[in-house]
Amino acid sequence: MLSINDITPFQKTLIQWYDSHKRDLPWRETHNPYIIWVSEIILQQTQVVQGLDYFYRFITQFPSVSALANANIDTVLKYWQGLGYYSRAHNMHNAAKEIMAKHHGNFPTEYTAVRALKGIGDYTAAAICSFAYNQPYATVDGNVYRFLARYFGISTPIDSTNGKKEFAALAQQLLNLTHSGLHNQAMIEFGALQCVPRSPDCNNCPFKESCKAFAEDLVEILPVKEKRTKIRDRFFFYICIDDNGYTYLKKRSNDEIWKGLFEFPTIETPKRPMLENILKSEAFSEIVGKNYSIINQLPEIKHVLSHQHIYACGIHIRTNEQTDALHSCQRIRIADIHQFAVSRLTGKFLEKLGW
Ligand code: SF4
Repeated sequence: MLSINDITPFQKTLIQWYDSHKRDLPWRETHNPYIIWVSEIILQQTQVVQGLDYFYRFITQFPSVSALANANIDTVLKYWQGLGYYSRAHNMHNAAKEIMAKHHGNFPTEYTAVRALKGIGDYTAAAICSFAYNQPYATVDGNVYRFLARYFGISTPIDSTNGKKEFAALAQQLLNLTHSGLHNQAMIEFGALQCVPRSPDCNNCPFKESCKAFAEDLVEILPVKEKRTKIRDRFFFYICIDDNGYTYLKKRSNDEIWKGLFEFPTIETPKRPMLENILKSEAFSEIVGKNYSIINQLPEIKHVLSHQHIYACGIHIRTNEQTDALHSCQRIRIADIHQFAVSRLTGKFLEKLGW
């Protein structure tokens, strides 16, 4: 348990640092919970600098909960394109509809109601409630875990159940109850700018006198993580058809990666595919049929996701045969292809094709 003699100077030093170092970011100028929510979800998957563009585009297109709720999911995904983690866009869309249905279009103000919205976890609920309404909920993101682990010299893994509880309790004790939103923003910003993952500038840190990791030479060791993410390798073979200026795209409907996005007819293989084997395969003739000509091969691109490494290659062919498999795809004009939401990987193939 921390004493008031630990907490008050900590809070003061933090706010002083924040006043002189904080970045001017658009979502810091508002108490609008919708805007804060959008910014938080976007920032969970991208750096602030890249996130700004996405944020402006998204908020301009969907300026309110009702605009988002009433939009078609294909349009929402198009505006999310490139950010990855598409389930988050689906969740936001569903949560916006929920707010319209259950809260008459007003963003809920109680923590439990905010936390109950689809896709909103402890961190995001605390961020919305503290930034928008100054409610006393501490936010603990990766930046805060790192800062706290080092400052207090804690080696409990941050991704363990005990670690999560311990860090959440500590962050809550340190919270400045009068200025919860400001304090939380300062904690996050401190981890993002000063107590950075690699080689922080400890000599110029306002906490260096009391930082345990600095005193005990643990800065590069903390924080500790328990689990290593298991990476799965996958092999995709894309069939990019040119049928007199038309091509075929299929919407991914399963619940894993890229749900709702469009991609070329794809053959997934357990190992890296050989072109001659693919051309002889049943899967290929089911999609393409017998009459086609090869324009060129599309060499492999490696695409890294958090839990998967995808090795994708493909073939650009000309055909006007319309197989049953192609009937389950959308036939679209190649000139219109950029109107469809696609993954970053498919986008790279579009570039290779010059489409
Ligand atoms: S002294 Fe170094 S490790 Fe400690 S809080 Fe400051 S930047 Fe982080």
